[in-house]
Amino acid sequence: MTNVRDYGNWIEGAWLRGASSVERRSPANGELLARFADSGEKEVDLAVQAARRAFDDRSVWSALPGSERGKAIGRWIDLLVRDTEKLARMEAEEVGKPVRFGRGETEWSIELARYAAALAWQIPSDLVNHAGDANLGLIVREPRGVIGMITPWNFPLVTLFQKLPYALAAGCTVVIKPSELTSSTTLEIAALAKEAGIPDGVINVVTGSGKTVGEALTGHRGVDMISFTGSTAVGKRIAARAAEQMKRVGLELGGKAANVVFADADIDAALDGVLFGYILNQGEECVQGTRLLIEESIAGEFVSKLVERSKRIRIGLPEDPEADLGALIHEQHMEKVLDYIQSGLDEGARLELGGNRLTDAPFGRGYYVAPTIFSNVTPGMKIFREEIFGPVLAVTTFKTVSEAIVLANDTNYGLGNGLWTKDIDKAIQVSRELKSGTVSVNTFLETSVQMPFGGYKESGVGRENGLDGLLEYTEVKSIFIKVGKRAHALPHTAS
Ligand code: NAD
Repeated sequence: MTNVRDYGNWIEGAWLRGASSVERRSPANGELLARFADSGEKEVDLAVQAARRAFDDRSVWSALPGSERGKAIGRWIDLLVRDTEKLARMEAEEVGKPVRFGRGETEWSIELARYAAALAWQIPSDLVNHAGDANLGLIVREPRGVIGMITPWNFPLVTLFQKLPYALAAGCTVVIKPSELTSSTTLEIAALAKEAGIPDGVINVVTGSGKTVGEALTGHRGVDMISFTGSTAVGKRIAARAAEQMKRVGLELGGKAANVVFADADIDAALDGVLFGYILNQGEECVQGTRLLIEESIAGEFVSKLVERSKRIRIGLPEDPEADLGALIHEQHMEKVLDYIQSGLDEGARLELGGNRLTDAPFGRGYYVAPTIFSNVTPGMKIFREEIFGPVLAVTTFKTVSEAIVLANDTNYGLGNGLWTKDIDKAIQVSRELKSGTVSVNTFLETSVQMPFGGYKESGVGRENGLDGLLEYTEVKSIFIKVGKRAHALPHTAS
């Protein structure tokens, strides 16, 4: 048995123990991993007050030269690098993912922080001389204030690092509410920030459920913005509640991405991209390629090759260094994925592979679902329309380019899509017509710190990463400065 981690909340640079706690057990084998403080309104209020003080005292963080903030984030990055292996293992254990993906996630989070730190040196501003020499117009960007960050369990570190370093670079202070299932790495990186010399109160973490901590944070008047990553249902509730106070929101929500494969594609590359696209992170991935739209003339051969390749996917415990696929997050979620599989069968899709829970040792004590492929899927079926969040692929055929575009866009979501073709004109046309924040051509699940990430339609509001990711955490102010003597507005009142 691993050592059980026991955490309090992290408020103003110190641990604050909770009166009660929630337990996190391994989704791979049921072992107790960690206890997190089960907090409520009181702890949220303490954390928001701490973040408020750190923000309002301009000498602490918000009005430091950007270079100072950038250097402090840089020192923090050194500690994240030092502790990469520890963070990767925690992430793998709590989420149920293979450790090499926990490592990849930690390294990518550090990359995001490096880029954000560099942005701190030069927060964009502008100058307008609307009256020639007689004025100076300054357009400045100020930090938005105290940011409430609410994150999910599937990529606890990456979803946080698409927010946190950008908000810090901009000069904001934060209160983070991580998922109650996967809070360890968030608490660890907050404590590392203190070791790096980031002032107390700049980063605070309150753990507990969405219903208590999440609701209290969203409704707190001391919070200027909520930056949320999670389900569309919760995102809508947060947007509605935030609107009551005109609180700003950034929302990264669900997805139902399609991989569109044309007959003229590099088939080997497309098979690889489609396969990785539906099983990465057990399919618990907002940009998962959960739908395959395939040109009819190559569908039969493509699907049988995909099934053959999928049989070679290595399923494993989190510590297995070579595993490709791990456990789902908890029993209830596994049941939900199995219900979607049943609905596929009931609605007449053809099961090509999988469809079952793994019950043999060593997986029987965990929540493992086999890679699953359905063909003959039509747009009316639940597995075509709803976010499954498991290793399940729904295959639908098309005959023409325009039919492919209609099918890909036939969803309320719009986070990402992929397309595979060697015809450059077709690639550009389809990229332009797909309604999603990300489109990948002859590749899938690529990401870059410089490129904005976010959703069309019900996949969200706002963008993370890139310069846009920084600007989300700023407020624009126009400063009008008169140069020289100002002409009287009402000359007859002047003497
Ligand atoms: P979730 O919406 O259930 O929970 C997300 C977070 O919100 C958790 O911390 C939870 O405790 C909190 N929460 C729950 N109810 C709340 C409430 N009423 N008020 C405030 N906070 C509340 O999502 P999840 O199950 O943790 O994560 C899976 C979802 O996240 C999927 O829909 C997935 O597509 C989405 N996701 C999106 C992205 C993206 O970048 N677009 C990335 C990862 C995950």
